[in-house]
Amino acid sequence: MDIKLYNTLTREKEIFKPIDEKEVRLYSCGPTVYYFAHIGNLRSYLFMDNLRRVLHYNGYNLKHAMNITDVGHLESDADDGEDKMMKAARRENKDPYEIAKFYTDRFMEDLDKLNIWKPEIICKATEHIKDMEEYVKEIIKNGYAYETTNTIYFDTSKLDKYGVLSNKGADEVKAGARVEFDTEKKNPTDFALWIKAPENHIMKWDTFWGKCYPGWHIECSAMSRKYLGELFDIHTGGIDHIPIHHENEIAQSKGYSGHIPANTWMHCEFLTINGGKMSKSLNNLYTLSDLAEKGYSALDYRMFNFTSHYRNKINFTFEALDSAKIALARLKECYQRHLEGTIDVDDKKIEEYKNRFLEAINDDLNMPLAMSVVWEVAKGEKSKKYADLLLDFDKVLGLKIDEKEEKELPEEIMEIINQRKLARENKDFTESDRLRDLLIEKGYSVKDTKEGMEVTKK
Ligand code: AMP
Ligand code: ZN
Repeated sequence: MDIKLYNTLTREKEIFKPIDEKEVRLYSCGPTVYYFAHIGNLRSYLFMDNLRRVLHYNGYNLKHAMNITDVGHLESDADDGEDKMMKAARRENKDPYEIAKFYTDRFMEDLDKLNIWKPEIICKATEHIKDMEEYVKEIIKNGYAYETTNTIYFDTSKLDKYGVLSNKGADEVKAGARVEFDTEKKNPTDFALWIKAPENHIMKWDTFWGKCYPGWHIECSAMSRKYLGELFDIHTGGIDHIPIHHENEIAQSKGYSGHIPANTWMHCEFLTINGGKMSKSLNNLYTLSDLAEKGYSALDYRMFNFTSHYRNKINFTFEALDSAKIALARLKECYQRHLEGTIDVDDKKIEEYKNRFLEAINDDLNMPLAMSVVWEVAKGEKSKKYADLLLDFDKVLGLKIDEKEEKELPEEIMEIINQRKLARENKDFTESDRLRDLLIEKGYSVKDTKEGMEVTKK
Protein backbone atom coordinates (compact mmCIF):
# COMPACT_ATOMS: atom_id res chain seq x y z
CA MET A 1 0.00 0.00 0.00
CA ASP A 2 1.23 3.49 -0.84
CA ILE A 3 2.33 5.82 1.93
CA LYS A 4 1.20 9.41 1.52
CA LEU A 5 3.14 12.13 3.30
CA TYR A 6 2.49 15.85 3.39
CA ASN A 7 5.47 17.69 1.95
CA THR A 8 5.90 21.27 3.21
CA LEU A 9 8.02 21.97 0.14
CA THR A 10 5.26 21.27 -2.40
CA ARG A 11 2.37 21.90 0.02
CA GLU A 12 0.84 18.62 -1.08
CA LYS A 13 0.26 15.14 0.22
CA GLU A 14 2.46 13.01 -2.01
CA ILE A 15 2.96 9.32 -2.56
CA PHE A 16 6.24 8.53 -0.87
CA LYS A 17 8.93 7.00 -3.09
CA PRO A 18 12.28 6.47 -1.38
CA ILE A 19 15.48 7.01 -3.34
CA ASP A 20 16.65 3.49 -2.42
CA GLU A 21 13.90 0.92 -2.65
CA LYS A 22 14.53 -0.71 0.71
CA GLU A 23 16.16 1.92 2.87
CA VAL A 24 14.74 5.27 3.81
CA ARG A 25 17.24 7.96 4.70
CA LEU A 26 15.94 10.62 7.02
CA TYR A 27 17.23 13.46 9.10
CA SER A 28 15.61 15.11 12.11
CA CYS A 29 16.62 18.34 13.75
CA GLY A 30 17.37 17.39 17.32
CA PRO A 31 17.42 19.25 20.61
CA THR A 32 19.53 22.13 21.77
CA VAL A 33 20.84 20.68 25.00
CA TYR A 34 20.80 23.71 27.26
CA TYR A 35 17.84 22.72 29.43
CA PHE A 36 15.34 19.92 30.11
CA ALA A 37 13.08 19.13 27.16
CA HIS A 38 9.51 20.24 27.85
CA ILE A 39 6.48 18.28 26.71
CA GLY A 40 6.10 20.59 23.68
CA ASN A 41 9.62 19.74 22.49
CA LEU A 42 8.88 16.10 23.11
CA ARG A 43 5.84 16.22 20.86
CA SER A 44 8.14 16.77 17.88
CA TYR A 45 10.22 13.70 18.81
CA LEU A 46 7.05 11.63 19.26
CA PHE A 47 6.14 12.69 15.74
CA MET A 48 9.60 11.68 14.53
CA ASP A 49 9.15 8.28 16.21
CA ASN A 50 5.70 7.89 14.73
CA LEU A 51 7.12 8.44 11.25
CA ARG A 52 9.92 5.93 11.89
CA ARG A 53 7.52 3.30 13.13
CA VAL A 54 5.12 3.77 10.20
CA LEU A 55 7.96 3.43 7.68
CA HIS A 56 9.27 0.38 9.49
CA TYR A 57 5.78 -1.18 9.69
CA ASN A 58 5.64 -0.80 5.91
CA GLY A 59 8.79 -2.87 5.60
CA TYR A 60 11.45 -0.19 5.14
CA ASN A 61 14.84 -0.22 6.77
CA LEU A 62 15.85 3.12 8.13
CA LYS A 63 18.99 5.16 8.15
CA HIS A 64 18.07 8.03 10.37
CA ALA A 65 20.30 10.77 11.70
CA MET A 66 19.48 13.28 14.40
CA ASN A 67 21.76 16.05 15.59
CA ILE A 68 22.41 17.26 19.09
CA THR A 69 22.97 21.01 19.06
CA ASP A 70 25.63 21.68 21.64
CA VAL A 71 27.00 24.88 20.13
CA GLY A 72 25.91 27.71 17.85
CA HIS A 73 22.17 28.01 18.52
CA LEU A 74 21.70 31.66 19.45
CA GLU A 75 18.78 32.88 21.53
CA SER A 76 16.88 33.81 18.41
CA ASP A 77 16.82 31.34 15.51
CA ALA A 78 18.37 34.06 13.37
CA ASP A 79 21.73 35.61 14.15
CA ASP A 80 21.17 37.45 17.36
CA GLY A 81 21.37 36.89 21.06
CA GLU A 82 23.80 34.84 23.06
CA ASP A 83 24.63 31.18 22.35
CA LYS A 84 22.07 29.16 24.35
CA MET A 85 24.82 26.84 25.65
CA MET A 86 26.92 29.73 26.92
CA LYS A 87 23.93 31.29 28.61
CA ALA A 88 23.13 27.99 30.37
CA ALA A 89 26.78 27.63 31.41
CA ARG A 90 26.58 31.03 33.06
CA ARG A 91 23.21 30.27 34.66
CA GLU A 92 24.49 27.04 36.22
CA ASN A 93 28.05 28.15 36.70
CA LYS A 94 29.37 25.16 34.76
CA ASP A 95 31.42 24.38 31.71
CA PRO A 96 29.24 24.36 28.53
CA TYR A 97 30.41 20.79 27.81
CA GLU A 98 29.16 19.69 31.24
CA ILE A 99 25.83 21.37 30.49
CA ALA A 100 25.62 19.62 27.12
CA LYS A 101 26.44 16.21 28.62
CA PHE A 102 23.95 16.59 31.45
CA TYR A 103 21.00 17.66 29.28
CA THR A 104 21.84 15.23 26.47
CA ASP A 105 21.68 12.38 29.01
CA ARG A 106 18.36 13.68 30.36
CA PHE A 107 17.02 13.95 26.81
CA MET A 108 18.00 10.34 26.05
CA GLU A 109 16.24 9.24 29.25
CA ASP A 110 13.12 11.07 28.09
CA LEU A 111 13.25 9.26 24.75
CA ASP A 112 13.48 5.92 26.59
CA LYS A 113 10.58 6.77 28.88
CA LEU A 114 8.46 7.70 25.87
CA ASN A 115 9.47 4.47 24.12
CA ILE A 116 10.90 6.47 21.24
CA TRP A 117 13.19 4.42 19.00
CA LYS A 118 16.48 6.20 18.81
CA PRO A 119 17.76 7.18 15.37
CA GLU A 120 20.59 5.01 14.04
CA ILE A 121 22.93 8.00 14.05
CA ILE A 122 22.99 10.62 16.77
CA CYS A 123 25.56 13.28 15.98
CA LYS A 124 26.83 16.17 18.05
CA ALA A 125 27.66 19.52 16.51
CA THR A 126 30.86 19.92 18.54
CA GLU A 127 32.21 16.64 17.16
CA HIS A 128 31.79 17.80 13.54
CA ILE A 129 33.50 21.18 13.46
CA LYS A 130 35.91 20.06 10.72
CA ASP A 131 33.05 18.79 8.52
CA MET A 132 31.28 22.12 8.92
CA GLU A 133 34.43 24.08 8.14
CA GLU A 134 34.94 22.13 4.90
CA TYR A 135 31.30 22.71 4.00
CA VAL A 136 31.66 26.45 4.48
CA LYS A 137 34.84 26.50 2.40
CA GLU A 138 32.98 24.77 -0.45
CA ILE A 139 30.13 27.31 -0.27
CA ILE A 140 32.67 30.13 -0.46
CA LYS A 141 34.43 28.43 -3.37
CA ASN A 142 31.11 28.22 -5.21
CA GLY A 143 30.58 31.94 -4.70
CA TYR A 144 27.69 31.80 -2.24
CA ALA A 145 29.35 33.32 0.81
CA TYR A 146 31.45 36.29 1.82
CA GLU A 147 33.63 37.26 4.73
CA THR A 148 33.15 40.35 6.89
CA THR A 149 35.18 41.54 9.86
CA ASN A 150 33.39 39.20 12.27
CA THR A 151 31.47 36.66 10.24
CA ILE A 152 31.24 34.48 7.14
CA TYR A 153 27.80 35.15 5.70
CA PHE A 154 25.74 33.17 3.25
CA ASP A 155 24.84 35.46 0.35
CA THR A 156 21.13 34.82 -0.22
CA SER A 157 21.05 37.13 -3.27
CA LYS A 158 23.03 34.48 -5.19
CA LEU A 159 20.13 32.02 -5.04
CA ASP A 160 17.45 31.82 -7.70
CA LYS A 161 14.99 31.99 -4.82
CA TYR A 162 15.38 32.24 -1.06
CA GLY A 163 12.36 31.12 0.93
CA VAL A 164 11.22 28.05 -1.02
CA LEU A 165 9.77 26.31 2.03
CA SER A 166 7.73 29.16 3.40
CA ASN A 167 6.96 30.13 -0.20
CA LYS A 168 7.46 33.79 0.50
CA GLY A 169 8.54 36.29 -2.10
CA ALA A 170 11.97 37.89 -1.54
CA ASP A 171 10.31 41.13 -0.44
CA GLU A 172 8.22 39.41 2.20
CA VAL A 173 11.25 37.57 3.54
CA LYS A 174 13.20 40.82 3.58
CA ALA A 175 10.41 42.56 5.43
CA GLY A 176 10.45 39.77 8.01
CA ALA A 177 14.20 39.84 8.50
CA ARG A 178 15.30 41.74 11.55
CA VAL A 179 17.10 45.04 11.57
CA GLU A 180 20.78 44.26 11.33
CA PHE A 181 23.57 45.41 13.55
CA ASP A 182 26.28 44.28 11.18
CA THR A 183 26.58 47.00 8.55
CA GLU A 184 28.85 44.77 6.45
CA LYS A 185 26.00 42.36 5.78
CA LYS A 186 24.87 42.69 2.16
CA ASN A 187 21.25 41.50 2.29
CA PRO A 188 18.84 41.39 5.24
CA THR A 189 18.22 37.66 4.71
CA ASP A 190 21.93 36.74 4.69
CA PHE A 191 22.83 34.57 7.66
CA ALA A 192 25.95 33.54 9.54
CA LEU A 193 27.74 30.38 8.52
CA TRP A 194 30.80 30.90 10.66
CA ILE A 195 31.47 33.41 13.40
CA LYS A 196 34.80 34.82 14.53
CA ALA A 197 34.86 34.34 18.28
CA PRO A 198 35.35 37.31 20.58
CA GLU A 199 38.18 37.00 23.11
CA ASN A 200 35.92 35.94 26.02
CA HIS A 201 33.95 33.34 24.04
CA ILE A 202 34.44 29.88 25.60
CA MET A 203 33.32 27.58 22.77
CA LYS A 204 35.66 28.27 19.88
CA TRP A 205 37.92 26.30 17.56
CA ASP A 206 41.09 26.98 15.57
CA THR A 207 39.92 27.13 11.99
CA PHE A 208 40.96 28.57 8.66
CA TRP A 209 39.59 31.98 9.69
CA GLY A 210 41.15 31.94 13.16
CA LYS A 211 39.30 31.17 16.38
CA CYS A 212 35.69 30.69 15.38
CA TYR A 213 32.47 28.91 16.18
CA PRO A 214 29.83 27.67 13.75
CA GLY A 215 26.42 29.16 13.01
CA TRP A 216 23.50 26.92 13.96
CA HIS A 217 22.22 26.01 10.49
CA ILE A 218 25.50 24.72 9.09
CA GLU A 219 25.65 21.77 11.50
CA CYS A 220 22.54 20.16 10.01
CA SER A 221 23.75 20.62 6.42
CA ALA A 222 27.22 19.23 7.15
CA MET A 223 26.06 16.29 9.26
CA SER A 224 23.15 15.24 7.06
CA ARG A 225 25.49 15.25 4.05
CA LYS A 226 28.11 13.27 5.93
CA TYR A 227 25.76 10.53 7.13
CA LEU A 228 22.99 10.44 4.53
CA GLY A 229 24.58 11.83 1.38
CA GLU A 230 23.86 14.94 -0.68
CA LEU A 231 20.29 13.83 -1.36
CA PHE A 232 18.16 11.93 1.12
CA ASP A 233 14.46 11.17 1.51
CA ILE A 234 12.90 12.98 4.44
CA HIS A 235 13.83 15.90 6.65
CA THR A 236 11.77 16.55 9.80
CA GLY A 237 11.48 19.25 12.42
CA GLY A 238 9.10 21.46 14.34
CA ILE A 239 6.98 23.98 12.50
CA ASP A 240 9.14 26.81 13.85
CA HIS A 241 12.01 25.50 11.73
CA ILE A 242 10.29 26.33 8.46
CA PRO A 243 10.95 30.06 8.08
CA ILE A 244 14.60 30.26 9.16
CA HIS A 245 16.47 27.10 10.03
CA HIS A 246 15.23 24.92 7.20
CA GLU A 247 15.25 27.74 4.66
CA ASN A 248 18.87 28.25 5.57
CA GLU A 249 19.70 24.56 5.37
CA ILE A 250 18.23 24.52 1.87
CA ALA A 251 20.17 27.66 0.94
CA GLN A 252 23.42 26.08 2.21
CA SER A 253 22.86 22.89 0.25
CA LYS A 254 22.13 24.87 -2.89
CA GLY A 255 25.36 26.75 -2.34
CA TYR A 256 27.25 23.51 -1.75
CA SER A 257 25.82 21.11 -4.30
CA GLY A 258 23.23 23.09 -6.26
CA HIS A 259 20.15 21.27 -4.98
CA ILE A 260 17.70 20.89 -2.10
CA PRO A 261 19.03 18.13 0.21
CA ALA A 262 15.81 16.22 0.92
CA ASN A 263 12.83 15.30 -1.22
CA THR A 264 10.20 15.49 1.53
CA TRP A 265 10.09 18.04 4.34
CA MET A 266 7.78 17.30 7.25
CA HIS A 267 6.93 19.56 10.16
CA CYS A 268 5.12 18.98 13.43
CA GLU A 269 2.73 21.61 14.78
CA PHE A 270 3.05 23.02 18.27
CA LEU A 271 1.58 21.90 21.53
CA THR A 272 -0.30 24.63 23.36
CA ILE A 273 -1.29 24.70 27.01
CA ASN A 274 -4.80 25.73 27.93
CA GLY A 275 -5.00 27.21 24.45
CA GLY A 276 -1.89 29.38 24.83
CA LYS A 277 1.87 29.36 24.83
CA MET A 278 3.95 27.36 27.25
CA SER A 279 6.39 29.47 29.16
CA LYS A 280 8.33 29.52 32.37
CA SER A 281 6.92 32.91 33.32
CA LEU A 282 3.36 31.58 33.06
CA ASN A 283 4.44 28.64 35.21
CA ASN A 284 2.94 26.19 32.72
CA LEU A 285 6.05 24.61 31.27
CA TYR A 286 6.04 20.90 32.06
CA THR A 287 8.65 18.19 31.73
CA LEU A 288 8.06 14.45 31.96
CA SER A 289 9.22 14.56 35.59
CA ASP A 290 6.55 17.16 36.35
CA LEU A 291 3.94 14.86 34.85
CA ALA A 292 5.32 11.88 36.80
CA GLU A 293 5.04 13.84 40.04
CA LYS A 294 1.37 14.33 39.28
CA GLY A 295 0.92 10.61 38.64
CA TYR A 296 1.09 10.45 34.83
CA SER A 297 3.50 8.21 32.99
CA ALA A 298 5.39 9.15 29.84
CA LEU A 299 3.25 6.62 27.97
CA ASP A 300 0.09 8.39 29.17
CA TYR A 301 1.53 11.46 27.48
CA ARG A 302 2.34 9.41 24.38
CA MET A 303 -1.29 8.24 24.28
CA PHE A 304 -2.49 11.84 24.63
CA ASN A 305 -0.55 12.76 21.48
CA PHE A 306 -2.56 10.33 19.37
CA THR A 307 -5.66 12.45 19.89
CA SER A 308 -4.46 14.96 17.30
CA HIS A 309 -2.88 14.82 13.86
CA TYR A 310 0.74 15.97 13.86
CA ARG A 311 -0.07 18.86 11.49
CA ASN A 312 -2.68 20.22 13.89
CA LYS A 313 -2.03 22.00 17.12
CA ILE A 314 -2.67 19.92 20.20
CA ASN A 315 -3.94 21.58 23.33
CA PHE A 316 -2.61 20.19 26.58
CA THR A 317 -4.81 20.16 29.67
CA PHE A 318 -4.63 17.86 32.68
CA GLU A 319 -8.23 16.80 31.97
CA ALA A 320 -7.13 15.61 28.52
CA LEU A 321 -4.11 13.84 30.01
CA ASP A 322 -6.41 12.18 32.54
CA SER A 323 -8.57 10.85 29.72
CA ALA A 324 -5.47 9.54 27.94
CA LYS A 325 -4.32 7.80 31.11
CA ILE A 326 -7.69 6.12 31.58
CA ALA A 327 -7.78 5.19 27.88
CA LEU A 328 -4.34 3.58 28.03
CA ALA A 329 -5.23 1.54 31.11
CA ARG A 330 -8.44 0.50 29.36
CA LEU A 331 -6.57 -0.53 26.22
CA LYS A 332 -4.23 -2.69 28.29
CA GLU A 333 -7.21 -4.31 30.01
CA CYS A 334 -8.82 -5.03 26.63
CA TYR A 335 -5.61 -6.64 25.46
CA GLN A 336 -5.45 -8.87 28.57
CA ARG A 337 -9.13 -9.78 28.14
CA HIS A 338 -8.55 -10.78 24.51
CA LEU A 339 -5.58 -12.91 25.52
CA GLU A 340 -7.96 -15.22 27.33
CA GLY A 341 -10.47 -15.11 24.46
CA THR A 342 -11.64 -18.27 22.73
CA ILE A 343 -13.76 -16.87 19.90
CA ASP A 344 -12.35 -17.66 16.49
CA VAL A 345 -12.78 -14.43 14.50
CA ASP A 346 -12.85 -14.81 10.72
CA ASP A 347 -9.43 -14.09 9.20
CA LYS A 348 -11.09 -11.84 6.63
CA LYS A 349 -12.27 -9.59 9.44
CA ILE A 350 -8.75 -9.44 10.89
CA GLU A 351 -7.41 -8.57 7.45
CA GLU A 352 -10.02 -5.83 7.08
CA TYR A 353 -9.03 -4.23 10.39
CA LYS A 354 -5.36 -4.47 9.47
CA ASN A 355 -6.03 -2.75 6.16
CA ARG A 356 -8.03 0.03 7.73
CA PHE A 357 -5.30 0.62 10.28
CA LEU A 358 -2.65 0.65 7.55
CA GLU A 359 -4.71 3.00 5.41
CA ALA A 360 -4.99 5.43 8.33
CA ILE A 361 -1.30 5.45 9.26
CA ASN A 362 -0.25 5.59 5.61
CA ASP A 363 -2.47 8.59 5.06
CA ASP A 364 0.11 11.07 6.35
CA LEU A 365 0.18 9.41 9.79
CA ASN A 366 -3.48 9.85 10.63
CA MET A 367 -3.21 8.57 14.19
CA PRO A 368 -6.65 9.72 15.44
CA LEU A 369 -8.22 7.64 12.65
CA ALA A 370 -5.87 4.71 13.35
CA MET A 371 -6.87 4.86 17.04
CA SER A 372 -10.54 4.54 16.11
CA VAL A 373 -9.70 1.22 14.42
CA VAL A 374 -7.65 0.18 17.46
CA TRP A 375 -10.68 0.80 19.71
CA GLU A 376 -13.00 -1.21 17.48
CA VAL A 377 -10.65 -4.16 17.83
CA ALA A 378 -10.16 -3.58 21.55
CA LYS A 379 -13.90 -3.58 22.16
CA GLY A 380 -14.56 -6.61 19.95
CA GLU A 381 -15.60 -10.05 21.18
CA LYS A 382 -13.00 -11.85 23.29
CA SER A 383 -10.53 -13.36 20.86
CA LYS A 384 -6.87 -14.28 21.01
CA LYS A 385 -6.66 -13.15 17.37
CA TYR A 386 -7.62 -9.64 18.45
CA ALA A 387 -4.92 -9.72 21.11
CA ASP A 388 -2.38 -10.59 18.41
CA LEU A 389 -3.72 -7.84 16.17
CA LEU A 390 -3.50 -5.24 18.94
CA LEU A 391 0.07 -6.27 19.60
CA ASP A 392 0.80 -5.88 15.90
CA PHE A 393 -0.73 -2.36 15.94
CA ASP A 394 1.42 -1.60 18.97
CA LYS A 395 4.51 -1.80 16.75
CA VAL A 396 3.29 1.59 15.49
CA LEU A 397 1.65 2.85 18.68
CA GLY A 398 4.58 2.00 20.95
CA LEU A 399 2.31 2.01 24.00
CA LYS A 400 3.62 -1.28 25.43
CA ILE A 401 0.06 -2.56 25.72
CA ASP A 402 1.26 -5.99 26.78
CA GLU A 403 3.01 -4.63 29.87
CA LYS A 404 0.82 -4.77 32.94
CA GLU A 405 0.23 -1.52 34.81
CA GLU A 406 2.74 -1.07 37.56
CA LYS A 407 0.75 0.68 40.16
CA GLU A 408 3.00 2.29 42.69
CA LEU A 409 1.99 1.72 46.27
CA PRO A 410 2.08 4.55 48.81
CA GLU A 411 5.08 4.68 51.11
CA GLU A 412 3.01 3.84 54.21
CA ILE A 413 1.79 0.62 52.55
CA MET A 414 5.31 -0.28 51.38
CA GLU A 415 6.47 0.11 54.96
CA ILE A 416 3.83 -2.38 56.22
CA ILE A 417 4.70 -4.80 53.40
CA ASN A 418 8.37 -4.69 54.36
CA GLN A 419 7.55 -5.28 58.04
CA ARG A 420 5.37 -8.23 57.06
CA LYS A 421 8.13 -9.68 54.87
CA LEU A 422 10.44 -9.54 57.87
CA ALA A 423 7.84 -11.15 60.14
CA ARG A 424 7.39 -13.98 57.64
CA GLU A 425 11.13 -14.51 57.37
CA ASN A 426 11.26 -14.72 61.18
CA LYS A 427 8.29 -17.12 61.15
CA ASP A 428 6.39 -14.70 63.35
CA PHE A 429 2.97 -15.64 61.99
CA THR A 430 0.94 -13.73 64.56
CA GLU A 431 2.67 -10.50 63.54
CA SER A 432 2.39 -11.41 59.86
CA ASP A 433 -1.39 -11.98 60.23
CA ARG A 434 -1.77 -8.72 62.10
CA LEU A 435 0.01 -6.82 59.32
CA ARG A 436 -2.05 -8.59 56.65
CA ASP A 437 -5.25 -7.50 58.44
CA LEU A 438 -3.88 -3.98 58.65
CA LEU A 439 -3.31 -3.91 54.88
CA ILE A 440 -6.86 -5.19 54.30
CA GLU A 441 -8.21 -2.58 56.68
CA LYS A 442 -6.42 0.10 54.62
CA GLY A 443 -8.17 -1.06 51.44
CA TYR A 444 -5.66 -3.52 49.94
CA SER A 445 -6.00 -7.18 49.08
CA VAL A 446 -3.16 -9.50 50.01
CA LYS A 447 -2.34 -12.75 48.26
CA ASP A 448 0.50 -14.93 49.54
CA THR A 449 2.25 -16.80 46.73
CA LYS A 450 5.37 -18.93 46.42
CA GLU A 451 7.31 -15.89 45.19
CA GLY A 452 6.16 -13.66 48.05
CA MET A 453 3.06 -11.57 48.46
CA GLU A 454 0.99 -9.63 45.97
CA VAL A 455 -0.58 -6.50 47.34
CA THR A 456 -3.09 -4.64 45.18
CA LYS A 457 -5.53 -1.80 45.79
CA LYS A 458 -9.08 -3.15 46.18
P1 AMP B 1 15.02 23.21 20.73
O1 AMP B 1 15.61 22.20 21.66
O2 AMP B 1 14.68 24.50 21.38
O3 AMP B 1 15.85 23.39 19.48
O4 AMP B 1 13.62 22.62 20.26
C1 AMP B 1 13.47 21.27 19.97
C2 AMP B 1 12.22 21.02 19.15
O5 AMP B 1 11.04 21.31 19.88
C3 AMP B 1 12.13 21.84 17.88
O6 AMP B 1 11.88 20.95 16.82
C4 AMP B 1 10.95 22.75 18.09
O7 AMP B 1 10.29 22.91 16.88
C5 AMP B 1 10.11 21.94 19.03
N1 AMP B 1 9.19 22.72 19.87
C6 AMP B 1 9.47 23.78 20.67
N2 AMP B 1 8.36 24.19 21.32
C7 AMP B 1 7.35 23.36 20.94
C8 AMP B 1 5.96 23.26 21.26
N3 AMP B 1 5.35 24.06 22.12
N4 AMP B 1 5.25 22.26 20.67
C9 AMP B 1 5.83 21.40 19.80
N5 AMP B 1 7.14 21.46 19.48
C10 AMP B 1 7.89 22.42 20.02
ZN1 ZN C 1 18.52 21.31 11.95
